[in-house]
Amino acid sequence: MTCPICKKPADPKYRPFCSRRCADLDLGRWLNGSYAVASTDPEDIEEAIEQIASNPDRLH
Ligand SMILES: [Zn+2]
Repeated sequence: MTCPICKKPADPKYRPFCSRRCADLDLGRWLNGSYAVASTDPEDIEEAIEQIASNPDRLH
């Protein structure tokens, strides 16, 4: 199995991803879709994750 984000071999701990980072990026992509944030830039996604993490109320 390979990581759907970066295509490296997956780590069983983070399956199907290779790392926590890629798992977070995938979550960020999903959240971006939910919020219709028009960006596929990984740095923007990381920023979105941080914003959501610091404002969990925005999820609901
Ligand atoms: Zn990866």
